[in-house]
Amino acid sequence: MNRILVTGGAGFLGSNLCARLLQNPENQVTVLDNLFTGRKSNIEPFLQNPRFRFIEGDVKQWQDIPCDQIYNAACPASPPAYQKSPTDTTKTCIFGVLNMLELAKKYNATLLQFSTSEVYGDPEVHPQVETYRGCVNPIGIRSCYDEGKRCAEALCFDYHREFGVKIKVIRIFNTYGPNMDPEDGRVVSNFIMQALRGQDLTVYGDGTQTRSFQYVDDLIEGIVRMMNDSRPDFLGPVNLGNPGEFTMLELAQKVLQHTGSQSKLVFKPLPGDDPTRRRADITVAKRELKGWEPKIALDEGLEKSIAYFRTLV
Ligand code: UDP
Repeated sequence: MNRILVTGGAGFLGSNLCARLLQNPENQVTVLDNLFTGRKSNIEPFLQNPRFRFIEGDVKQWQDIPCDQIYNAACPASPPAYQKSPTDTTKTCIFGVLNMLELAKKYNATLLQFSTSEVYGDPEVHPQVETYRGCVNPIGIRSCYDEGKRCAEALCFDYHREFGVKIKVIRIFNTYGPNMDPEDGRVVSNFIMQALRGQDLTVYGDGTQTRSFQYVDDLIEGIVRMMNDSRPDFLGPVNLGNPGEFTMLELAQKVLQHTGSQSKLVFKPLPGDDPTRRRADITVAKRELKGWEPKIALDEGLEKSIAYFRTLV
């Protein structure tokens, strides 16, 4: 049996990962989640599975959980969610990864760290390559997350160099799909829920800022390939994202088109330090992860996501 720990496993990404891992009868999956942004409903389908275990607990506290692989996904990831308690966000990033690195050290397990395109901040290099060191405001309203995740990467590499702990680091670009919290405040969930409810779509700033949006199944495929890559010296970081780049205005139009909604756009102030452009350079992922690349384009992914969000309206 392969003993797998997924921190943040009741969240959007974590629960999609668990569904994928449980397809393999060799895998035993333990979720550690404090349900701060994670939701019990996301793991409800697994609770009867004898190869699944849920521990309601906080990654900031030491937990001794025997394991062979650790996916460290625990952290609120939506700006309104991680800004709700910014000091707790930073603590989750840092104490969380420290506890998981200690666990990996104790059990000789491999730790895969969920890092983020936010480590690039408001980037001056476009598209973002892994060698770019980023442009992060260290004292801004996003820094609790950005700097927390940057420090977590540093800790992973230092544990590897100092103690030989097996680590892998991925940098996740904007991802969307089923199991997203409809109220989590991110742009895809906001626009779709607003369109389905006949409310105005809230565009922040003038809507010309860009993001590249990746459908969750594409991400999960990349994550699993990264974890199971057997080269001990291949640590990452590896960008995982969809290189298609869209403005928020383009996204709003697509959501209106796919939902058939008559909603209007309403413009709201741009939050502080909101990155102006973001697009994943995935050359490394394609080369190193057996030709991995996203398969689901934005239109198709939006259709699938809208079907999920419709069940929640
Ligand atoms: N955004 C928007 N309307 C919303 C929510 C977000 O226009 O209702 C914008 C936000 O300002 C940002 C982009 O959409 O420029 C992506 O925001 P999100 O919170 O989804 O992710 P992140 O900023 O972390 O990439």
